[in-house]
Amino acid sequence: MGISEVTLIKQHLIDPEVCIRCNTCEETCPVDAITHDERNYVVNAEVCNACGACLGPCPTGSIDHWRIVDRSKVFSLDEQLGWDELPTVEEAGATTSDDSLATLVGAEAPPQTNAAISPSSTKPPHSAATPQTNLHGVKNPITASVVGNLRLTAEDASGDVRHIVLDFGSLPFPVLEGQAIGIIPPGLDANGRAHHPRMYSVASPRSGEREGYNNLSLTVKRMTEGDDGQPFRGVCSNYVCDLQKGDTVQVTGPFGASFLMPNHAGSNLLMICTGTGSAPMRAMTEQRRRLRAAGQPLPGRLMLFFGARRAEELPYFGPLTKLPADFIDTCLAFSRAPGQPRTYVQDRLRERAADVAELLRGDSFVYICGLKGMEAGVLDALRDACAAADMDWPSLHQRLVDEGRFHVETY
Ligand code: NAP
Repeated sequence: MGISEVTLIKQHLIDPEVCIRCNTCEETCPVDAITHDERNYVVNAEVCNACGACLGPCPTGSIDHWRIVDRSKVFSLDEQLGWDELPTVEEAGATTSDDSLATLVGAEAPPQTNAAISPSSTKPPHSAATPQTNLHGVKNPITASVVGNLRLTAEDASGDVRHIVLDFGSLPFPVLEGQAIGIIPPGLDANGRAHHPRMYSVASPRSGEREGYNNLSLTVKRMTEGDDGQPFRGVCSNYVCDLQKGDTVQVTGPFGASFLMPNHAGSNLLMICTGTGSAPMRAMTEQRRRLRAAGQPLPGRLMLFFGARRAEELPYFGPLTKLPADFIDTCLAFSRAPGQPRTYVQDRLRERAADVAELLRGDSFVYICGLKGMEAGVLDALRDACAAADMDWPSLHQRLVDEGRFHVETY
């Protein structure tokens, strides 16, 4: 029986309440079924073939929603663009909802395609702690108090990057290194609707920005221009960067169930980041540093490649350079240091190719976070490092991805 003959189809939908508009799904979709306007990300039922390629890379899980509906009554793009929340099963006129891509019973399953293999693991490291996710959404955000707002970059730096500390008082809000939270900017957008939350990676370890406190930190850059270089005032980043001690913020999350660190002591971490993509690396490094300070033997190695324009623009530069070399092997890449050639993290990876390959041979976990643009260069550098060490990168990369050892979060 062909798909055109069945009445029921499993329509793929995105939850507008949880979606953080990071564009990952639209970039990933191999058949261009996903599109967006300034408000929502939506799926074209006529084009979507339910291949599932977009599911893994989505950081929030907002992508994994399905309604079994009559083919003649699928939700149009215009309808989806107008949603503030997903329709209930009853509103959808659906026989059932099924919030996972499982086999469709009673109608023909959508065709599967050979979707492009995600370059990133969709499962966490095998020894990672179990994360709490989606405890608070836009309908039940948790209130946090601002207890710190420190400028990390020099006053004359081109970027204003802030270390923001939020305290949750007596309210439980457990986060793990690598997870993210949403912040809801106050006020209304141009359409008169509440702003959707913007997502920020947590920069502190599980035991709190201050150990034993119910707080966490974020690394936030004030957005003053758009991707096209034209002046653009980021709604949430400016709100967050202007927060004062004592202010309260509405928080959603925590989000993220795969970009997590391994818990076993022998695991090596290879961390590659640019700019504010350093947030999860700081969290993981600090977690390991605290364990080491508490006397736990940690045979696993840490290697960090970190890129910024100049030392003055590198978040956490001071504390980072004070970490002992036998704890972390740090390679900084400055692209606009006066009198020095432009250097990116991938250039440093090439310089350290032999050490990188040796690390990849072991019990290692790779984390890449920051600018989307660095992804291709970093992958090329890893491939070349492996080739020079007689290692087959495609098969190693696939194994790392499959085993929850290769995590990419770029925007
Ligand atoms: P940035 O300051 O614009 O750039 C950091 C460094 O990366 C600069 O030295 C830059 O060099 C270099 N760079 C530019 N293109 C590159 C390429 N193709 N390959 C390698 N390096 C390259 O960084 P940012 O503004 O902080 O942006 C960081 C990104 O991380 C953002 O896209 C953000 O969304 C993302 N992120 C943030 C968080 C968070 O929680 N804050 C979490 C995850 C991801 P030049 O500018 O000199 O070319």
